[in-house]
Amino acid sequence: MRADVVVVGSANADLVVSVARRPGPGETVLGSDTEVLPGGKGANTAVAAAKLGARVSLLAAVGHDSYGRMLVDSLESAGIDTASIRHLERPTGVAYIFLTPDGENSILVSPGANSALSPADVRIAGGKVLVASLEVPLPTIEHAVALAAEQGIRVVVNVSPPAELSPQTLAVLDPVVVNEHEAAELLGPDSDPRRLLDLGPRSAVVTLGARGVLVIEPDGVQEIPSPQVAAVDTTGAGDAFTGALAARLAEGVDLATAARFAVRVAAVSVTRRGAQPSYPTADEIPG
Ligand code: ATP
Repeated sequence: MRADVVVVGSANADLVVSVARRPGPGETVLGSDTEVLPGGKGANTAVAAAKLGARVSLLAAVGHDSYGRMLVDSLESAGIDTASIRHLERPTGVAYIFLTPDGENSILVSPGANSALSPADVRIAGGKVLVASLEVPLPTIEHAVALAAEQGIRVVVNVSPPAELSPQTLAVLDPVVVNEHEAAELLGPDSDPRRLLDLGPRSAVVTLGARGVLVIEPDGVQEIPSPQVAAVDTTGAGDAFTGALAARLAEGVDLATAARFAVRVAAVSVTRRGAQPSYPTADEIPG
């Protein structure tokens, strides 16, 4: 399969426990049974795009363990090309997710194999859009971005978790995607996210949770509201947004049009439990 959307990023097993409240320091809190779900920002983004019909490949790393097999199986059942997934002598990454009744989550990530994905593992052979996020080492992402840009592939990077990208990397992003906290990390506290283009990317998208997104391009800023929904679990909403954005950009639509579609996809995802299992197919997107 020749992928249109090439995703570089993490793959984790999400161990999800519902709790009445988050444990404080030194405190033990009893929670629900543990649900084991496929996750990781890279895998989530890949699944979000694939469920919408894009041809997707994922470059990621897992261990030789049952979580690694579970992740690869679930990616394959979503129709994702897993030939670039590295199987390393490290445990598969695990995210411990505490879900509270307000629909918010607290997450601890043990990166395992994700932290051993190296620049030498990166091969980019075509595609229309490269999408990366930063739960894998920064040099690996910067190498993938450089290879993609050389091949004329559109590059989207979700700077999550926050990291200091080189000017060369920033200069080719179209767009850089950040939430409000990540925008503040990049620009400094209390700065206007509209100033993201000063850092050098060709365009930027700031996700604003339930409020939607800001699309920032050299010729102006557009506020795109999110559909109002009853959120039950926002885990992986940002990845749903980024995957949907990439799927549409790969079809050649403009950034604002892609973002208008992606907020509808992300809004559906927050009305359902989990990250990947919550992502809709194209025919599930209302109106
Ligand atoms: P996460 O870390 O949970 O994946 P994030 O912090 O990276 O998300 P957010 O800005 O919280 O990013 O959410 C990403 C997008 O998901 C938002 O721009 C919006 O489109 C959608 N979204 C998030 N929360 C809600 C909500 N409560 N109702 C509707 N849409 C939402």
